[in-house]
Order: sequence, then structure tokens, then C-alpha cells
Amino acid sequence: MFRKSLRGGVHPTAHKALSNTSPIRRFPLPQRLHISMQQHLGTPATPVVRVGDQVLKGQLIGASQGHISAPVHAPTSGRITAIAEHTAPHPSGLPVLVVTLECDGRDQWQDTLVVADPYKLAPEEVCVRVGAAGIVGLGGATFPAAVKLGLSLKTGVDTLILNGGECEPYLTCDDRLMRESATDVIQGALLMQHAVQARQVFIGIEDNKPEALQIMQTAAAGTGIEVRAVPSRYPMGSEKQLVQQLTGKELPAMSRAADSGLLVHNVATARAVYQAIVEGRPLISRVVTLSGGAVTHPGNWEVPLGTLASELMNHASGFDVTPARLIMGGPMMGIQLPNLHVPIIKGTSGILALTSEEIQQKQPEPCVRCATCVRSCPMGLQPLEMAAAIRSGNVKAAASLGLHDCVGCGACSYICPSSIPLVHLFNYAKGELAAQTRARQKMENTRVLAQRREERLERQAREREALMAARRAEAARKAAAQAAEEQAS
Ligand code: SF4
Ligand code: SF4
Repeated sequence: MFRKSLRGGVHPTAHKALSNTSPIRRFPLPQRLHISMQQHLGTPATPVVRVGDQVLKGQLIGASQGHISAPVHAPTSGRITAIAEHTAPHPSGLPVLVVTLECDGRDQWQDTLVVADPYKLAPEEVCVRVGAAGIVGLGGATFPAAVKLGLSLKTGVDTLILNGGECEPYLTCDDRLMRESATDVIQGALLMQHAVQARQVFIGIEDNKPEALQIMQTAAAGTGIEVRAVPSRYPMGSEKQLVQQLTGKELPAMSRAADSGLLVHNVATARAVYQAIVEGRPLISRVVTLSGGAVTHPGNWEVPLGTLASELMNHASGFDVTPARLIMGGPMMGIQLPNLHVPIIKGTSGILALTSEEIQQKQPEPCVRCATCVRSCPMGLQPLEMAAAIRSGNVKAAASLGLHDCVGCGACSYICPSSIPLVHLFNYAKGELAAQTRARQKMENTRVLAQRREERLERQAREREALMAARRAEAARKAAAQAAEEQAS
């Protein structure tokens, strides 16, 4: 077994026991669902329903747009009552288009496409069905799963890795899912293996989840899938760390797993693939962890997409104390929420309500150059140097120090004794660089368009000149012919 010594990483308090001891509960249908058209990385889906339409559970309500996008389906039956912009938990913070569905309580499915033997499907067909089911990376990345599978099939992948690390503190949705739906996860992994024709499959689970590890190993027995324990250390859930632990391969800087013949997916994504291919069920709900010191009854809930986080919190728990911070996702990489009036989307792994003791907000102090951040960085970067460059306004220097390799895990911020918000600086600088690239791209596009216009005008002038010359020649030829005719007569 590969178990390379890990670079960097930190050991934040896990807080897993708050929510991992009770089974996943099913959230009852709310009166209304607010279904975002932007639940994935890439171009938002476009509504294909109108206000007043009746829809069935599983029916397509948002069509994917372009290459990197994912469709959206109705989580239950009912009537569309609004299509309008709404604040949604998207990193951009911008309002997104949301379809509001008044649930009719019948929860009536549309006809589903059930497959008796999914392994008779061609690999390409599995990818197509995963795409049609609107499945995205459920670990939080929300990249459309079918795009990843299709590219992997095209370029050739040797190894499929399922990420059961769940290294973010508080989150236990994957832990409970593996314990309670291990067979579905394993079947989904086998279908993904079939889709990309991978030679081998590994599943990595942090060794602080012994129950999930044992249940998954039992479920995988005889399938050829290897379920392995990986050390509990944040950010073990990052692609590069997991690949290194399971295969011994170190992914080069600025490269993706696919460049090394590897495909990494989350365990919950595998279960969604199983449900889509075998049961004909699109992605319309997900398991969400409710946790944090302010939450009265932490736990895991299977929630229809579009449920307001406030409704989930009120029904499931309520607060012991007023939360000091609300987060969607984990505390290290999640999105801070202004309030809970946002819908649950495909990428919502958790809703956390933390107390002021838990967030320990301290005023940043000057850097003491202790290099703790350097030792904690799993990517081998120099956070203090990058931060210094960004603070002096030189984001390009930060880029040359490897900013693009920063996975935004926040380990450096967590460990910094001076409480310097390093990861926020890096996210800001990445945004600046992206804006500069977009501006350069825009200028380049304008230059190319202007050059093409110039070339078109020159070509048109040449064509006009050639036409005029041809007409003059024709007129001269006719005049000469006429003169010759007159002379002859
Ligand atoms: S951990 Fe904080 S104080 Fe120490 S070198 Fe890094 S930025 Fe400076
Ligand atoms: S946020 Fe970036 S720089 Fe900081 S530890 Fe993680 S990868 Fe390294």
C-alpha cells in the first residue's frame, strides 16, 4: 500500500461527533421550493418551464447551456409560481435565476427510465445519462460530472479514485452516507469505472471514520475496488493529497489529476450516479449536515434541492444561542452566509451555525515570520511571501510564487499565530488575476475583431477594384470589337 509522508496539513478540531451518531433523516416536503438555475460550475441552466406550468417529480425544469453546465429537475410535483432572481448561495454573491415550485403534496414522479443491466450500456451512454440527470461533484466543487467522465473516457484514465475523506470539520454527510448506503456508493463507483473504462478503483476514507471504512470494505468485497484508510489530516480531501496517499503519485504543479491518468470523484457523486443509471432518478435531493455549537439538534438530513436553509434549520433544530457565523459547507472552505434565506443547492454539504467561541475571531497582528504557514501548506507554497506580495499590490509576483497552485484550503490561515487572513488574501488575488486575464482577453478579442474588420475592408476594396478593372477591361474589349466591326463594314 502507498502511504507517502504527507506534506503540510493541519489538525483542526473535528467536531464530527456532534452530528455523526444518528442516522440520516428525510426532510418533509416544504410548501415551496426555490430551485436555483446555478447549482453547478459553468453556465447557468435556462428555465424550460413557465409560470403556471404543472410539473412532475424528476421533470426537467432547467436545460443545460453550453459545454460546461448541468440541467436542473423538479424535486417534487407541483406548480411553477415564479421565475425570478433571488440571492442564492453562490460564491459570486450575485443574484441568480430561481424557479419557485409550489409543492402539491402528491410527490408524483414522471415516467422514469429504469435499466435492468446498466453494464450493457455503452460507456458513452452512461456519460450521457449522468449528464441528463444533472449530476455534479457533490463534494462541493459542483463541476458537471458528465463532463469529467466524458473527458476521461476520451483521454484515457487508468485509475478512478473516490474521495470519502470528508476532512472539513463538522461535516459528516459523506460519513453517514457511506455507513447507510454503502452498496449504492460501490455500485455507483463500478458504473463510473465502466463509464471511463478505468483499470482500477480506490476509495480513500479518513481513519477517523472506522465505521464507514469497515462497512465500505465489506460492501466492496469481491468487486475489485480497494477501500483504504488515509490519515485524518486537513486537507486530505484535496485531490492532490488523496492521489498521493492512494497511488504514490505526486501531481505536478499546475496540473490536474486527469493529466496523470486519474479521475477523482466524491462518494456522494457515486451514489447519485447509481440512482441516475439504475433507478432513473435525476439529482433532486442531497444529504446536508446541520451542525455547529449554536445548533440545538445537529444531524444529517436528506433534503429536496430548493428547500430554504432557514426552513431546514427551523424544522430540524433551531438554535441554542444566536449564531456568530453562518456557513454553507465546511468552516475551512465554505461560504459565509449573511442569513439562512438561501436555498439548498447541489453543492450544499452542510449548514453550520457557529458560536463566537468556535470562530475565535482575533484581530490580525504583524507577521512574525515563524514559517508555520509554510510547514502547513499541503502544496509546498510560501504563504507568507505570497501574502507580502499581495499586500504590496503585486499580484503578479504572488502568481510567480505559485498562487495558481493554492487550493484555497485555508490551512495556513488556520495555523497562523498572528491570525492573518492568508486565504482571503489569496482568494482576493486570484480574483484580481482572473479579472486581469479577462481584461486582457477582452482587449485581445477587440484587437482581433478590429484586425479582421481591417482585413475585410481591404479585401472588399481589392474585390471592388478587381470588379472595376474587369468592367473597364470588358468595356475596352467591347469598344475595340465595335471599332473593328465598324472598320470592317
Ligand atoms: S504563520 Fe503567520 S506569522 Fe507565521 S510566517 Fe506565516 S504569515 Fe507570518
Ligand atoms: S490556502 Fe493555499 S497557501 Fe494556504 S495552505 Fe492552503 S494551499 Fe497552501
